[in-house]
Parts: sequence; structure tokens; C-alpha cells
Amino acid sequence: MPEEQKHDPDFTRRSALKKAAATGAGLVVGGAVAAVAGDDQTNGIVERVEAKEEWFAERAFSLSGNKVLVSKSGGSFPRTTLASQIYRPRSAQEIASLVKGSSATTPIACVCGGHEASNAPIFASTDAIVLDLMHLNSIEFQRDDKGLLVTVGAGVVFRELVEAVKKQHGALPVGTGPGVGVVGYIVNGGLSGYFSRRLGLLGQRVVSATMVTAAGEIRVLTSKDELFTAMMGAGSALGIVTDVTIRVAPEQAIRRTEQRVFAFTTREQAIAFCRGGLRIMKNDVFPADSVSFELVVTGTKALVATLVFFDAFEGNDADLVKPLEDLAANLELPLLAESQWSSWYEAAAALWPVINEMKGDPLVMLQHSVGTREVPDEQILDFVSDTIVADAPLDEAQMSIVEIRTLGGAALTGTKVPSGNCYHQFFVDLVAMYDAKDKTLAERQSIANDVQGIVEKAKTVDGLVVDFSGTHSQPDDRDPAVKASVIFGSDEMAEAVRGLKKEFDPNNRFRFHPFAKIL
Ligand SMILES: Cc1cc2nc3c(=O)[nH]c(=O)nc-3n(C[C@H](O)[C@H](O)[C@H](O)COP(=O)(O)OP(=O)(O)OC[C@H]3O[C@@H](n4cnc5c(N)ncnc54)[C@H](O)[C@@H]3O)c2cc1C
Repeated sequence: MPEEQKHDPDFTRRSALKKAAATGAGLVVGGAVAAVAGDDQTNGIVERVEAKEEWFAERAFSLSGNKVLVSKSGGSFPRTTLASQIYRPRSAQEIASLVKGSSATTPIACVCGGHEASNAPIFASTDAIVLDLMHLNSIEFQRDDKGLLVTVGAGVVFRELVEAVKKQHGALPVGTGPGVGVVGYIVNGGLSGYFSRRLGLLGQRVVSATMVTAAGEIRVLTSKDELFTAMMGAGSALGIVTDVTIRVAPEQAIRRTEQRVFAFTTREQAIAFCRGGLRIMKNDVFPADSVSFELVVTGTKALVATLVFFDAFEGNDADLVKPLEDLAANLELPLLAESQWSSWYEAAAALWPVINEMKGDPLVMLQHSVGTREVPDEQILDFVSDTIVADAPLDEAQMSIVEIRTLGGAALTGTKVPSGNCYHQFFVDLVAMYDAKDKTLAERQSIANDVQGIVEKAKTVDGLVVDFSGTHSQPDDRDPAVKASVIFGSDEMAEAVRGLKKEFDPNNRFRFHPFAKIL
């Protein structure tokens, strides 16, 4: 790349626009619409995937715990897409041509990293086309007067982004899964348990995005466009993002991480550790925005306590670590591992080996979350330990985890995007996971019932919000009580998203997303 382009933040977008103009694909910049080409001939030259079952097995991270309750003949369940055609486009222009070239009512599903909990885009429907975005895998860095920017294609997954950002000495609030799609996470309001308190949600750091609308127009969005903000949390329902440009923080933002892993034998021990650990979180971590704390209880009988110290932290790390060690010692819980990381990268990549081991035939997953807008009171902390940790199906589904985390900080003070995640101080994910081949239908049902039982109880706790984001919800639950104002954070934001949905996708072409029940 010529030297002057390396320093030009608009270079990538401008070159995309030039290419689009040359191919005649639709273009909208600042509201003006250019001509749009696209026909079945174009569809013929975009790469197609014919082996649907193999594609499904390769691209779906897991199967929804609700989908494996429907026993077809002999206890089997569907394991392939319903879509009429799978395309692998290589550019925004190819996507625009595909959108334009199909009927204005043809449903369109996008697959980025393939981790959506209900498998909505991967299954799609018989009249739908799927766009597998894996070829949009470019990662380009530029600098402006405020620092480093990265432009990420819609097929990039976190492992690739983290490795690239490490080389630039940067830091971002990335998700934990190495294979989670960066854009799939951003457009559903994804958060980072370790980093969002300091760096905000990743969607709050996006400065511009390119997308294709349901009409096949390519739009370049910045914060001046209403659609821009909506895309950073409700985007999977509104259009197809082809790339995003994100402001990268310097690596010094994350100073140090301390992690301790203790073993437990009985559930009572896990509950007791959580009771004590949550008091440390409330009294010592919540008052300081300069630290985040995550406590994870695993089905493999481990308690993982992680403290991430940010650049503004002026205290002594040991003042927070020692009480956790003392708590474990009092409960006679053996220390399994002790880690200190001095870089953002080490913390960002820490869970990759564990997640890579999560496999099944197929792997089954149910994701639910609860959170609070205020620092949680005693009743809520008791509910987390005495009900969520106590009742989670950790023994029945041994890959399961309960993740208890601080949020707030920069996520709370940053620009509001349509995600409940930017209003919450505290959140808890219950991720139930197991290998389906080891479970009878009755066992799978029992796990789903246990999870649903916890969610129902959580709904009765004052101040506790259930299901507040698109990344940690289970959209194929039968529960009809999901509220748009909770998922998108406020009534106003929900109204704005609904209005944009009507305007930009009147035929509901983009219907395979976590918000299907509310949009
Ligand atoms: C192991 C694991 C770890 C996780 N860690 C975190 C975490 O730390 N924080 C967090 O918030 N979430 C986390 N999640 C949840 C994850 O972020 C969401 O499921 C996310 O939506 C997955 O994105 P994807 O691209 O991998 O999935 P996909 O299934 O490919 O896509 C998810 C949704 O986004 C839509 N979409 C994808 N690409 C585009 C596009 N280019 N334009 C428009 N819509 C698009 C899809 O149609 C679908 O509706 C995790 C999940 C797993 C399984």
C-alpha cells in the first residue's frame, strides 16, 4: 500500500466505493442513491456451497438446547440448513448484486462466525438464501490524529482480530470465543467481561461501517446517520454489514490481570465461595471503575476468579487478590492454578484453549443472562449464589459455566447503542453446554427445564433484568415475555429500531436474528 494511503482513514472505504461504482453496484453515501445492478446472472458467478450438511457441521458452533428437544424419528434432530442456496460472496458489490438479483421478498440470512445461540441464520428457511461471509476476511490498520483505527471485514473472527491488534500494540473489548464473528458480535450488542468496563462495548468504538440494505444499496454510515447507531446492537435485523472501522485503544489501557483457579467438590462449597466472592466484588471492585472482576463456576468443578487492572488503577493488586485467596483457604478449596498476565493479549486469548475443547456430536448450548442497572443489593447477590449457582445444571451438563461479572464503567458512560449491555453494572451468564450424543431426550429436556426454572425465578427478583442483550439471549425459547425495551435498553431505542426496520426492511428480509420475536 502506498505510504499516503497508510495514513488515510478513508482509504479503505473510498477504494470500496470506487470498486462499487465501477461494477455498477448500488451506492449510498450521505443519502444519495446511485444506480444498482444485479441479476440472476450475477448470482451465478458468486461462489456457492453445494454440500449443505458438511457446511452446517463446519459453520455451526453448537445446536440450540431447544432444538434438540424435538425428537424426529429415533431421537435425531435436524443438522442441516433449510436454505435454498448458500453463497460465499467476496465483496460488498457481490452482496449488493445478490440482494438485488433475488426477489424483493426473498429472506436473507448472514453467517459470520456461526455462534448465534438459536441457529436462526444457519437453519434459515426453505425460501431463504444464506450469505456465508467468511471470504470478507480483511483486517487493515490506519492512523488518524486520534490514534489507531482498524477496518475489519464481516467474515473476521476474534482470534484473527486479536492476533492482528496485538502486533499493533493495541487493545479492544473483544469477546471470549476465538471463533465468534466480530461483526456478528457487534451487530447484536456484544460485551467483554474483562475489558468493557474500561474500553466500552466494541460497537461503541465503531466510527464507520459499510452495509448493504434490503434494497441492495451499499451505504457508508458514520455516527451522523441514524441507522449507524441502530446497527451497533440491532444490526442483524436491519441490513448486511460488510465492514466496520473501529477505534483501537493503546495496549497500556490494560495493565495487568490476576487469575486464581480453585477446585470445589460439593455445590455447597461453590455457593459459599460465590457468596464471599460477590461481597468482595460489591465492596471492593464496584466502587473502582479501574478494575473488573469475573467469577466463573464450571461444570468441571472449578472456580475461576479473574481481576483485570486497568491503567487508572492506583491501588495494590494484592488488596483484591488476597481476600479471594483467604476465602478459598477458609473453605479449604485447593488452588489449581495461579496466573499473572501483563498484557491485553494474554487476557484476550486466555480462554481460547478451553473453548476449543468444547466439542460435541453435536455440542448443545443454552445461553441466558441476568443483570442489574445498579450495583447489586444483598438480595440479588444471594439469588445469584443460592439459586443460579445452586440450581445450574453443572453436573448434568458438565461443559456448563456460570459467569458472574462487573460491567458499567466505559460501557455505561459511552454512546448509547441498542443493547441492554450499555446500561448494566453487573451481569451473570448462565451457559448450559453438553455433548448431545451422551444424552437421552429426557436428559436434554431436564437440562432445558432446569435452565428455564432459573430464568423464571430470576424474573421475580426485584431489580434483576433478564435477557438484556442479543448476544446472551436464547431467542428460540418459548417465552413470549421478551421485551424490546429491555433488549435494546430503552423504550426510545426500541421505537427507533422498529421505525428503521419498517423503513429499511419493509419485507422483513433480514429475519434470522436474535430479535425475531420483537421486530
Ligand atoms: C464460545 C462463545 C463465546 C462467546 N463470548 C461472548 C462474549 O464474550 N461476549 C458476548 O457478548 N457474546 C459472546 N458470545 C455470544 C456471541 O457474541 C453471539 O452469539 C454473536 O452474535 C455471534 O456472532 P457470530 O458471527 O459468531 O454468529 P453468527 O451466527 O454468524 O451471527 C450472529 C447473528 O448476527 C448476524 N450477522 C452476522 N454477520 C452479520 C453481518 N455481517 N451483517 C448483519 N448481520 C450479521 C447473523 O445473521 C446472526 O443473526 C459467545 C458465544 C460463544 C458460543
